Amino acid sequence: MVINEVPNSCARSLSGVRASARRQIQMALRESEAIVLRTYPLGEGDRIVSFLDRAAGRLRGVARGARHTKSRFGSTLEPLSHVRIWYFERETRELVQINQCELLESFMVMQSDYSIANFLALISEVTESVLPEREQAEPQFRLVLLAARAIKNQAAIPPVLAYFTGWTARLAGWFSFLGQCAKCGRAMDGEPGFASIGSSGILCATCRQGWMTSISPAALAAGRQILTGKLDRFLKEKYSTDTLNEISEHTLNVIEHHAEKKLVTRQMVATINNY
Ligand SMILES: [Zn+2]
Repeated sequence: MVINEVPNSCARSLSGVRASARRQIQMALRESEAIVLRTYPLGEGDRIVSFLDRAAGRLRGVARGARHTKSRFGSTLEPLSHVRIWYFERETRELVQINQCELLESFMVMQSDYSIANFLALISEVTESVLPEREQAEPQFRLVLLAARAIKNQAAIPPVLAYFTGWTARLAGWFSFLGQCAKCGRAMDGEPGFASIGSSGILCATCRQGWMTSISPAALAAGRQILTGKLDRFLKEKYSTDTLNEISEHTLNVIEHHAEKKLVTRQMVATINNY
């Protein structure tokens, strides 16, 4: 019995050291660039923050004391704030612990315009809905910033919305406006295409199924340009609002179908833009 007690005690002590080392590794402080997507109140004065880390993807964390008047987080946790963030990640816990935030770029001033505020809320909700947690999504990170900055620079909402939703669906692998029929391969130019929200390709009139949605030639052309060009160049094109909204409507249907949820903010943006 006595002989057995010594090794047991050593084993406990050693396992305590290992556990402590493990905790240190698990609690390592990370520094990154991020976009705040949404926040939710937690308890008396804390917030849960959903954010898109440029390197690590979408994460959720707790910002202790963030709802107190003199919080060290200040205005850094507003929706779509572009921040430098420091947080502790614990492998055993779903939520990271946010330690500090520093504002790099704010879109808060735009929130006073009701239609723009709704559009920004849609960007947040779409991004949150399509990205799985903890998967790298750097292209989506750049897309969110690109769309928010375009609106900040006075771009109209319909083309930016079409560009943002088109590329979001494309990055997820749910959408591709090709110049040719996805079934027979025939080039399609100046003719309507036919789409299903469950598949990414567009079909020609011969290959279509009866229940597919028709997409106008103008919307097909705009969609092709969205997926092959930059936003600033797309903004110089003179597509009608109807054409742009046709793309947004289709791609938002695709996003809702794959994300398996209705977007709460979509109706508010639709009402304002009349599509
Ligand atoms: Zn075809």
